Amino acid sequence: MDPGKTRQKEVANLPDYQNIVSKSILTPAKGCVAHHSFTFSLNPYVGCAFACKYCYVMEMPQAKFRGKEWGSYVDIKSNANVLLDNDIRKAKKKGQRISIFMSTATDPYQWKEAKERITEAILENLLNFINDIDFLMIHTRSPLVKRDIELFKKFGDKILVSMTIETDSEKYRKIFTPSAPPIPARLKALKEITEAGIPTRISISPMLPMTKKVAKVFKEATDTVVLDTYSLCNGGSGDRTEQMGIKKIYEEINLPQWYEKDAYKKILPILEKEFGHVNTIKDECSKCSLFLT
Ligand code: SF4
Repeated sequence: MDPGKTRQKEVANLPDYQNIVSKSILTPAKGCVAHHSFTFSLNPYVGCAFACKYCYVMEMPQAKFRGKEWGSYVDIKSNANVLLDNDIRKAKKKGQRISIFMSTATDPYQWKEAKERITEAILENLLNFINDIDFLMIHTRSPLVKRDIELFKKFGDKILVSMTIETDSEKYRKIFTPSAPPIPARLKALKEITEAGIPTRISISPMLPMTKKVAKVFKEATDTVVLDTYSLCNGGSGDRTEQMGIKKIYEEINLPQWYEKDAYKKILPILEKEFGHVNTIKDECSKCSLFLT
């Protein structure tokens, strides 16, 4: 059976949504996030309806403790905006630099954001502190992100919108992330954001099987890509992915060569021909303990 169809069936009636009251919204950065000079991560939700099969967050202690299937629940941090005021004031008082990665353990523009608008409210509030904020990176795989173009503009050069697009192939996207938004919609949204003058990039993370057209297709939407694989940005050099059994999916679709650690070396020159130099995350993150979703 098509592994993509199996997964769609698994999450058909999911997730369960609930409002929660959090204690804080800015979390001190660590691991890979800190290595990239971010001082805080910001997650408006707990859990993620996109339910990517390779998502490392499901292996983290909080998700394990929950005891529910990843993608089957999403907690909405209904007091996020109130907390943001407090957390920013606290950081300022301590003289901390405020460089925020939104988000590391959820997607800030997952389906529920269209109604709840938690992320939008956070952005509006962050603009109240624009002089105190060094940088904000928006990390998402949702075309909903284009809704907030006018807010992004107000951040000037203090913002980067990073769209995760792991492949140019919808066929493979549906196998690995059947509940995530389609690639053409992501590309279209990112193109609009780029054309609005907002700094953007595509994060190929993790690299999935793709076609040779990938560079030309991606170049339509942005001038910058960053490449990551299961092992380039992974404290165990791919061990965690190995434990999750992702390799089996590659075997089922008869593409085991795409799972090999140096598979990215075939794609890198194709990307570099179109984009010039392409960063991989390898050097900075060899000891990271947190996967950039
Ligand atoms: S990889 Fe990102 S978008 Fe996918 S399930 Fe995990 S948090 Fe959500």
